[in-house]
Amino acid sequence: MIISTKYLITGDGKTVLTDKAVYIGEDGKIGKIAQKEELLKEFPQEEVKEYGDATLLPGLMDMHAHLAYGYSQPDSFNYGSQLIMLYALQHAQSAFERGITTVRDMSSAHGVCKNLKLAEKKGFVVIPRIVHTDTGICMTGGHAWEEVEEMDGPWAIRKEIRKQVRDGAEWVKILTTNREPYPEFTQEELDAAVDECHRRGIKCGVHAGTNPGIQMCIDAGFDTIEHGTFMTLDHAKQMAEKGIAWTPTIMAYTYLYKLCKENIEKNGDAPVSDPVMQKEMANYEFFEPAYKAYRDHFKEFYDTGVTVLAGTDMVMYHSPLLPLPRELQYMVEYGITPVQAIQVATSNPAKVLGVEKERGLVAEGLDADLLVVGGDLSRDITRLKDVKFVTLGGKRVFEDGIRYVGTGNMFM
Ligand SMILES: [Zn+2]
Repeated sequence: MIISTKYLITGDGKTVLTDKAVYIGEDGKIGKIAQKEELLKEFPQEEVKEYGDATLLPGLMDMHAHLAYGYSQPDSFNYGSQLIMLYALQHAQSAFERGITTVRDMSSAHGVCKNLKLAEKKGFVVIPRIVHTDTGICMTGGHAWEEVEEMDGPWAIRKEIRKQVRDGAEWVKILTTNREPYPEFTQEELDAAVDECHRRGIKCGVHAGTNPGIQMCIDAGFDTIEHGTFMTLDHAKQMAEKGIAWTPTIMAYTYLYKLCKENIEKNGDAPVSDPVMQKEMANYEFFEPAYKAYRDHFKEFYDTGVTVLAGTDMVMYHSPLLPLPRELQYMVEYGITPVQAIQVATSNPAKVLGVEKERGLVAEGLDADLLVVGGDLSRDITRLKDVKFVTLGGKRVFEDGIRYVGTGNMFM
């Protein structure tokens, strides 16, 4: 297949090529990037997809998703493990219409992601590439304790990590702050978690949004800090220096802020009947400064050189699934360029996931996980809404509003 577009964003944060085409080989990799005429001459039999005034870029990576997280469903008490699996499958496949080809799952119901990947391997389903934790770990009564594993003390945490690694976890997720200005895990517990992961060659991300929890997580040496809502410029500099990446999840907090604000404007102090909304309303005083913290500081933190990752973290129901284009739009609204925003969702994640030799850029020899959107994305990040074509390993998975996730004949 040859894909031809007017613009090509490679994903390195700076390069935009014009009037180039990409040849995808039989092996599902990017075989050659050259002028269309040259490729047509060299590969005369190939199917040609001519998009004209459009942009080709690497498939996007959502670095903070919860594919099987019951909280997002109002009647989650009704969800047995089979239904959770079906929900997770739909959730995963919805990635394609957003142009997402890789998802890092940062805590889901036990075993779901592992089984989804197994189903993909067997040819039962077509899903994006998934890199996953098992279920998050918090202290007893800590953040999200109803949905994750509660552990106390370094050895209990080490044991839980060992169990999760035994059961197939590829990353580990720790949660250590909630809405209040105090940390949950002790330094000793955080250090133990990081040590247990790193000596096994596993990376770990941590939910940390308030102080002094953020500093404790930097000291412990986590690989990624999730949210970092109230981090300071000094924190960002330390993270840049230590190679700790930051997944701000701007969209999640902005969404919650706007939802609560709307509710107050509509209903005033009247009690809310919806139990999940009730819970969120109780945190309104956190969401407003959270939204402002991202708005006012994102750019100065970005400028420290800290590795920024795009992640959506949508766990509220009624919220859009994997709204990565909106996350990137916020980043651009807060001061970076569209081309830089694309790097945050492509080659930065690839490096943090350790797959930069395989994908994350439009470059010869890498997997053809590709996305075509209408118009000049390098000037207008909202063009991401106009997804025309998505390939995963060179295979079409989305085109003109339709997902191509049919399977081969399993019984052949
Ligand atoms: Zn999350």
